Amino acid sequence: MEDLYKEVARVMKERKYCVASTGAGISAESGISTFRSKGGLWEKYDPAVYASIDVFRQDPSKYWTIRGDFIRNYDQYNPNNAHVALAELESLGILRSVITQNIDGLHKKAGNKQVIEVHGSIREINCLQCHRQYIAPDVPEGLPPYCESCGGVLKPNTVLFGEQLPWDALTRAQEESSMCNVMLVIGTSANVYPAAAFPDLARQNGAIIVEVNVERAFPKVDYFLGEKAGTALPKLVEEIKKLSEK
Ligand code: NAD
Repeated sequence: MEDLYKEVARVMKERKYCVASTGAGISAESGISTFRSKGGLWEKYDPAVYASIDVFRQDPSKYWTIRGDFIRNYDQYNPNNAHVALAELESLGILRSVITQNIDGLHKKAGNKQVIEVHGSIREINCLQCHRQYIAPDVPEGLPPYCESCGGVLKPNTVLFGEQLPWDALTRAQEESSMCNVMLVIGTSANVYPAAAFPDLARQNGAIIVEVNVERAFPKVDYFLGEKAGTALPKLVEEIKKLSEK
């Protein structure tokens, strides 16, 4: 296993244009449930129902019932060792960007500058009527909460099932996937499209794919680091630093 980390570190250092594509698994060690975690939020509430735009339009209180606590306690959630390692890789000049499906804002909080949030951010909450923006955790009370300026319904700036992805973020994510020559695919089950297709796009353009996950989600990767992201990514950073010292 240690030789595998050395090998991946060497590839990343030599190839230099590395992009990370992350999913809910990278935030699991920050205490945020993935879709698949046992006993987690999404075992109780089917996300395809509770996080769908049709349901939100019919009855926004359903969404706020399951996400309101998270939004109002937003400051409690902090980046873990995996997020910190990615921020370090960016400051070392090896990681060019992070494409994330996550809406938790933890990559930015960890210090990454080039973050592409393809599903938006739950930290930003917009009034659907006057477009006033609130920043979590400072959101009015209520199920659903209403705008203090105009009384419109508030909706977090996240892509719900049935909504289009933000065009800018999607375009940037596709560009970065095509341009990178190493892609780290971290903590995603590869079930949600189009994000699940970014590694294929990278591979078609010649990139080496490195998967970091506790269980394998992509059959065709060049390297599989089968450990928790909070263990694997700091190890990679250490190996890259050792190479720089030589
Ligand atoms: P998913 O829930 O479908 O799968 C999580 C993946 O992470 C699994 O493959 C699992 O094996 C892996 N994993 C779990 N713990 C890990 C760890 N410590 N280290 C490494 N890997 C670990 O997640 P997804 O593929 O990202 O799809 C879920 C969708 O739901 C996304 O589109 C995302 O927008 C949304 N979501 C986001 C959050 C968040 O923002 N933190 C949380 C839940 C869901």
